[in-house]
Amino acid sequence: MPRICFLFLIVFLFSLRQAFGQSIGIGISPKSNFTRIKFANATGNYTLKADTLLIGVVDHFSTCEISQLADHKMDLIYKGVRYERVGIITLDGIEPDKYIEFSGLTPSVKAKAFEGNFKITNPGKGLLVINSLSMDDYLEGVVESESGVGQCLEYYKAQAIISRTFAHKNWNKHKKEGYQLCNQVHCQAYLHKRNGPLLIDSAVGLTKGQVLLTADSKLASTFYSANCGGKTCDPVHVWRESVSGLTTIKDTFCIHTKQAKWETTIPLETWSKWITDTYKFPTVDSVFMKPYFYWENNDRSPYLYYENSGIPMSELRDHFKLKSAFFSVKIMDDGVHLLGRGYGHGVGLCQEGAMGMARKGYSSEAILSFYYPAYVSSSKGSTSLSE
Ligand SMILES: [Zn+2]
Ligand SMILES: [Zn+2]
Repeated sequence: MPRICFLFLIVFLFSLRQAFGQSIGIGISPKSNFTRIKFANATGNYTLKADTLLIGVVDHFSTCEISQLADHKMDLIYKGVRYERVGIITLDGIEPDKYIEFSGLTPSVKAKAFEGNFKITNPGKGLLVINSLSMDDYLEGVVESESGVGQCLEYYKAQAIISRTFAHKNWNKHKKEGYQLCNQVHCQAYLHKRNGPLLIDSAVGLTKGQVLLTADSKLASTFYSANCGGKTCDPVHVWRESVSGLTTIKDTFCIHTKQAKWETTIPLETWSKWITDTYKFPTVDSVFMKPYFYWENNDRSPYLYYENSGIPMSELRDHFKLKSAFFSVKIMDDGVHLLGRGYGHGVGLCQEGAMGMARKGYSSEAILSFYYPAYVSSSKGSTSLSE
């Protein structure tokens, strides 16, 4: 093989490893701006280092507390001894499949268990905790955080595939901050390690390496939300730009679930003022006023009243902090009643619909092709070239 081709192959394999390698770095609650944190209740042994100095081993009976100082330094307390002005602190698990509890002391955040290793630095605003762990362990935590317990295997498999696709597609989302993804809904929820059903581990294992691809073999945009209300939303009406392969579909699998319907009341004055101030709409004119106060929306119209123009439903959702942008309007004595459907932006896979499909016996493949008809699933293990 000519040298140049060989070098290209090495670079290609390296970039595949970057994208599909087994380890992923997750920023834990980076927006919390912690000034004091704690690690405790380990189920295994973790080597504790302050810069290059090996401090000791954190085990089930020992804890370590870290405080933020000025000029990017930190204080570390381990077994009653204070180590001052440290730059980087690492906690590395010695045995596999163990975990340790992380908690925020200031601000206070309840202890949650995480697998893998930890690197703590002080970039300035708050302490930065990066959790490095295997892609499979990460996905197990994500699948449970995003969909809870008590679901069927085929649903968990579908969720594992779309969460894996999301992770690979957004690999560089937090590159500037020094990790791949954060553990909040900004990326996808990874609130703790998998605590619930072993079925989730099976779902991640059975779909190992599988991702969804667009027709031209690129990683697909696998958006999902809790409940679409009976019709998924075209991304253009949420983000003002279209997403290749995603439009809208009718969904009857989610319409009788807990989050299928909602209702809220807004004072008439608040509603009218917002419409008048923001959109210069003449709400005092009875001809124009009526449709804006009595309006049936059964087909997820993107605009209030008019089909292709008017007030964007997504802007009303954002402003009034509504569960979804799919609702009808009805004026009553006590204010403007909004009768809504679904929960979330409604783009892509509808989780409650997908859960319903799995309960009815549909396979993960059938679920994914129902919600993402334009995407194809990579064959099993095809992304495991470098794993
Ligand atoms: Zn994020
Ligand atoms: Zn739905």
